[in-house]
Amino acid sequence: MKYQDTIAAIAVSSKNGSISVIRISGEDSLKIVSEIFFDAQKKNIDLENCPTHTIQYGFIQKEKEEILDEVLILIMKAPRSYTAEDVVEIQCHGGAFICQQILGLLVRKGVRIAEPGEFTKRAFLNGRLDLSQAESVMDVIQSKSEAALKNSLSQLKGTVKEKIVFLREMMLQDLAFLEAALDDPEHLSLENFSSTMEEHAKKLQDEVNELIKNSDNGRIIKEGVRTAIIGRPNVGKSSFLNCILRDDRAIVTDIPGTTRDTLEEELKIGETLLQLIDTAGIRDTEDKIESIGIEKAKKSVADADFILAIVDSSRELSEEDIHVFDLMEGKPGIILLNKSDLASVLTPEQIQKKTDRKVFLFSAATGEGLKELEAYLKELFLFDKVSCQDEIYITNIRQKQALYEAAESLTKLRETIEAGMPEDLYSIDLYYAYEALGKIIGETVEDDIIDKIFREFCMGK
Ligand code: GDP
Repeated sequence: MKYQDTIAAIAVSSKNGSISVIRISGEDSLKIVSEIFFDAQKKNIDLENCPTHTIQYGFIQKEKEEILDEVLILIMKAPRSYTAEDVVEIQCHGGAFICQQILGLLVRKGVRIAEPGEFTKRAFLNGRLDLSQAESVMDVIQSKSEAALKNSLSQLKGTVKEKIVFLREMMLQDLAFLEAALDDPEHLSLENFSSTMEEHAKKLQDEVNELIKNSDNGRIIKEGVRTAIIGRPNVGKSSFLNCILRDDRAIVTDIPGTTRDTLEEELKIGETLLQLIDTAGIRDTEDKIESIGIEKAKKSVADADFILAIVDSSRELSEEDIHVFDLMEGKPGIILLNKSDLASVLTPEQIQKKTDRKVFLFSAATGEGLKELEAYLKELFLFDKVSCQDEIYITNIRQKQALYEAAESLTKLRETIEAGMPEDLYSIDLYYAYEALGKIIGETVEDDIIDKIFREFCMGK
């Protein structure tokens, strides 16, 4: 697909930065920018005659010889550019006013203001990036931690694409063989093909399931470990949050049940991002608004990757505390025995009679135990990352949905084989799985299959 129009946008947007970059892409970009670009002698510089990947120095001028800015211009001729089209980048002085003036000038010369993501969309449509790479461009920009950035960069390099292409290639071999054999039974036999297909389907299913399983780790890397802070009212959940964030984000009061909703904050522990969720006190209540908060707390626990349960060391262990421990069931987590600065009524040993979770003595008031807790969490999440460093993590929901679709079709394919159905039915589910995976990298399907059949099997000789 070829675009006719030339688009432009401000590519660096820092309000008070000293330099801004305006990016222009499209067939006419060199020609259009040349019309407004002059050297010190006020002579037009023809960018079309300048070699690609060079920088030109000069001035952007309005019609009546009025200089707008002194600039550097970077030329990247097609196809060696981000969009695979002719791209010009104008480095002008920072500031919204100058940028808008230059953009305005470009628009008057026939350029259209680019829509968000349009350069990347063109890179995809022009075959420079596959869809998973295009999506990872956004993730790279939005990365919140080193681990997230590493993962997005690896996707940008094409690791997801490689894996998906490999799996689709396996599928295509069987699809092509099936089509060919069904069309030409005299020369190609389908005898024993069901057991080969069964074997292949299982392998594919395992691979797809592995990708689905890893996508949870992918989400953790990208968005952070969802950590729910739970405990009955007044144990110090909000105080803990403020203490670990070194901030006064949560409202602390001594009236039980004041955290009516959930609060979410991000915290970097080493390389890992924690999404801390302060939940309303968990206890039975008649108060309507509060009970909604408690429902939310239970949901937060269900959605969490990790639980920080807080208990008050200045009070006896209650039924509500035990209920909190029960809620943690099946989730990794630890217990903080808070208010260690007060006279102790409850000891770690007493807690460990009820649960075998690790217990930390803590004081949100004095910060006692904070260093130990942070060191522990750092170690814990570092281990998780090291153990799954070389995996491919699908972090994108759209891509994950496509994986589910592929897995479902592969399950159906195996059922079809097990039920002893005719071979021509295999291609339906296999084709759906192939198509579903194709969505991840944004490929069309029909042409591929047809090409492959003709290339590899030389039908209709
Ligand atoms: P939440 O209902 O669990 O969120 O509890 P809050 O954080 O609102 O704290 C309830 C009360 O306990 C407040 O009066 C806090 O000042 C107090 N508190 C919280 N943590 C500590 C602590 O470590 N030591 C002491 N002495 N008081 C604390």
